[in-house]
Amino acid sequence: MSGKLEGKNALITGASKGLGRAIAEKFAEEGARVAINYNSDERAALEVKKVTGGEIFRADVSSREQLHRMAEEIHSKMGKIDILVNNSGIWYLMPFDQYDDEKVRRMMDVNLMGSIYTTLEFLPDLKEKKGTIINIASNAGIGTAAKNTTFYAITKAGIIMLTKRLAFDLSEYGIRVNAIAPGWIETDLTIGGKSSDEIKKLEDDFRSRTTLKMVGKPEYIGNAALFLATKDSEYMNGQVIVIDGGRIDNLTHGI
Ligand code: NAP
Repeated sequence: MSGKLEGKNALITGASKGLGRAIAEKFAEEGARVAINYNSDERAALEVKKVTGGEIFRADVSSREQLHRMAEEIHSKMGKIDILVNNSGIWYLMPFDQYDDEKVRRMMDVNLMGSIYTTLEFLPDLKEKKGTIINIASNAGIGTAAKNTTFYAITKAGIIMLTKRLAFDLSEYGIRVNAIAPGWIETDLTIGGKSSDEIKKLEDDFRSRTTLKMVGKPEYIGNAALFLATKDSEYMNGQVIVIDGGRIDNLTHGI
């Protein structure tokens, strides 16, 4: 039986762990060849390579030079890219009045500029292949609030607008651009370095904010990314799929 992504090459940025890893695993299950980008954690990337049969490529997505070198490596090992998932992201939590210039700029550089730079680098591939772009935003980018996430939320709001505008700009090349806005999902980003008591508190807090009384799992995002990567979503462009357990503050405009 052939998978839904048989014959496709997919680049997933930040695929060494968390949501990127779940997306890479889902795509590989469906027959895609996956290019697993990572920045610092080669060991984790190698594990994903083992599970998916893909290839690993190091690049900091905020560096155009590193992205260019990565594109050359991908082209020589795998060929051109059909599906690009702009997933790499970081967050630094801080109250607005404790603004840290270096951290905020780094978040902008990785989360927002990284997605722009990666898209620019692989645009020739995507034009040739009439490919698809999936951007990983966040429900923070549509206004759901968690304490100290103002600056992170701004980077993700940028991703949502980038998605809508690119859907316009790139439709003439047959390229579709959509986004996923996850809610709170347990990954290194959200629970890394925390004690089990702290994790439980976070889980209770975020569960109570959802209508479904759930916390998220990376697989939910992998499933949605698969939908956006295939013909199953061929009539969708410039859209944001929110996967957040039905956040009460989103549905009610604030409680
Ligand atoms: P994670 O577990 O911390 O994984 C982040 C991934 O991004 C890692 O593979 C990391 O690679 C990579 N990365 C970090 N900086 C990079 C850079 N400069 N260049 C290239 N890759 C870089 O985080 P996650 O939770 O899976 O988050 C993935 C995406 O989902 C992010 O955009 C995040 O903002 C978004 N998101 C997450 C949640 C959530 O609740 N988890 C909710 C909404 C949105 P290395 O480890 O190798 O450096």
